[in-house]
Amino acid sequence: MKSYAPEPFVNFADETVRTQFDHELQHVLQKLDRTYPLVIGGREIYTDAQCVSYNPANLSQVIGRVSQATRAHVDEAFQNAAETFKTWSRKSAEQRALYLFKAAAIIRRRKHEFSSWLLLEAGKTRPEADADTAECIDFLEYYGRQILTLAERGKETLVPYAGEDNQLHYIPLGVGVVIPPWNFPLAIMAGMTAASIVAGNTVLLKPASQTPVIAYKFLEVLKEAGLPDGVVNFVPGDVLEIGDYLVDHKMTRFISFTGSQRIGMRIYERASKVHDGQIWLKRVIAEMGGKDAIIVDADADLDAAAQAIVASAFNFSGQKCSACSRAIVHEAVYDDVLARVIERTKNLSVGNPGDPASIVGPVIDQKAYDKIQSYIELGKTEGRLVCGGTQTATPGYFVNPTIFADVAPNARISREEVFGPFLAFTKASSFTEAIEFANQTEFGLTGSVFTRNRDHIEEARATFHVGNLYFNRKSTGALVGVHPFGGFNMSGTDSKAGGPDYLMLFTQPKLSSEVL
Ligand code: NAP
Repeated sequence: MKSYAPEPFVNFADETVRTQFDHELQHVLQKLDRTYPLVIGGREIYTDAQCVSYNPANLSQVIGRVSQATRAHVDEAFQNAAETFKTWSRKSAEQRALYLFKAAAIIRRRKHEFSSWLLLEAGKTRPEADADTAECIDFLEYYGRQILTLAERGKETLVPYAGEDNQLHYIPLGVGVVIPPWNFPLAIMAGMTAASIVAGNTVLLKPASQTPVIAYKFLEVLKEAGLPDGVVNFVPGDVLEIGDYLVDHKMTRFISFTGSQRIGMRIYERASKVHDGQIWLKRVIAEMGGKDAIIVDADADLDAAAQAIVASAFNFSGQKCSACSRAIVHEAVYDDVLARVIERTKNLSVGNPGDPASIVGPVIDQKAYDKIQSYIELGKTEGRLVCGGTQTATPGYFVNPTIFADVAPNARISREEVFGPFLAFTKASSFTEAIEFANQTEFGLTGSVFTRNRDHIEEARATFHVGNLYFNRKSTGALVGVHPFGGFNMSGTDSKAGGPDYLMLFTQPKLSSEVL
C-alpha cells in the first residue's frame, strides 16, 4: 500500500481543467431538484415531509428535496444499526479499511462532480469546493491507514511478561450518532462517518439541513463501494423532532458532533444523563466554534501578513471555524497592515460562485445573513467601519467583506463568533500584549503569528492557547495527517481530526491476558 499523502489540489489556472470542471457542472445542473430518501438498513424510505435544499447564491434553484426522519424512523435505524454492529464489528481492520479506500477512489474519479455539488449546495467557489472534495478523499485514505496502525499498536505496546500472552485490542464502541455541520458538508461529514465505521462502529448519520444532498451523494458512494447495509443509516430530519431524540436515545453509545458552541454544549449536557435501559456512559466528541486571531508583529513581512489575513477572513465568506475574525497588530505597523488589508479586500469580487471570477460567494442562509447583519450593526458601535458593511446588489445571501478597525479586545465583536466575512482589527502595544488580547476569548481553535523574531515565536508557542497554531501562514487550510485539527476550551474536545489519535476516540481498549 502506498503511504498516505494529501490529495493535490486542482489547478484552475489550467484551461483544460476549467473546461472539464464546467462540463461536470453542467452535468450536475441537469440533476437538480430531485427527491432523496432516508436510508435505513439499506432500505430507501421516501417521506411526505421534505427538507428543500436551495442554492444560497440563487434562491430560485432547488438543489434537492430530502425525506425527513421521524422518531419512529430513528428507532428503526437504531435497531438496524445495532443488528449490523454484530457482524460489522467482527470484520478485520483490513476489511473495513478497504471500503474507505474504494470510496476514496470513486470520489477521486468523480472529483469535479462532487465539487460541483459543493458549489451549488454550499455556495463554494471552485477552489474552495475542490479543497473540500480533496479533504474528503484525505480523510478516507488517512483513516483507512490509521485503523491498520491502531490494530498493530495493540499488539506491540505492552511490556512482555514471561509465561503470558498479553494483547490490547482497540474494539469499537457500538452505535454512534454523527451530526456534522454544513460548512464542510462533504469533508467533515464524510470524515466523521468514516472514522466511526472504520473503527468498527455502526452509525446514524444526520446531515446538516442546509446540505443534505451532498451527504446523500456520499451515501451513494458507500453503496457503490459495497459497504454492507446498516453500517451507515441516513436519517436527515428536523432537529425539533429528532435532534434531542438522537442524543438522548438509550441506544446511543457515542455522539460525534461538529458545529456551533451552543448546540455542542446542549449535546454535551444532554448526553451526560443516563436513561432507563442505558448501560454505558455516552462518549461525546464535540468540535465547536472559533474566534481565531492573526497576530502581526512589528518586524513581520507585512504583505505576506495582509495576504494571509484577507484569505483567512474572506475565503468561503469567512464561514470556516478556522477563519481569521480578528487581526491583532503591533502599533508600529498597525496603520500599514490595516491599509494593505483594506486595499486587498476591496479587490475581492463578490458574486455567484458559478462565475469563476467570484472570490467571495454567498453565506449559507437567511439566518446566517441576518446574524451577520446584526453584528455589522453592533460593530458600528464597537469599532470604526473601514470596509464593507453595505448590502450587495446580488440576489442570494451575499455579504460584502466587512472590516472594523480600532476594536477593543473585550468588545463583543472581538469575542463572539460571527461566522461570516467579518473582521475586527485591534491595536497592541507589544507582542506580549497581542497574545494576551488573542487569548481573551472563550474559544481556542486556530491562531497565526507573523513575526521574524525567534524569541516571539517561542513565546507564542508557549502562551498562545489554541489547538492549531501557525507561524507566518494563514489560519485556515489544515491538511489531513499534516495538521491534525481541533481546539481548546469552548472550541471543543480537541479531538484532532485527521491526526494519529483521532480513531482512539471511536474505540475502547480491551486487554486480554492468556497464561501460556
Ligand atoms: P450548528 O447549528 O450547531 O449545527 C450543527 C449540526 O447540529 C447540524 O447538523 C444541525 O442540524 C445539528 N443540530 C442542531 N440542533 C441540534 C440539536 N438540538 N440536537 C442535535 N443536533 C442538532 O452548526 P452549523 O451552523 O451547522 O455549523 C457552523 C458551526 O460549526 C460554527 O460554529 C463553526 O465554527 C463550527 N465548526 C467547527 C469545526 C471544528 O472542527 N471545530 C469545523 C466546522 C465547523 P440542522 O442543520 O438540522 O439544524
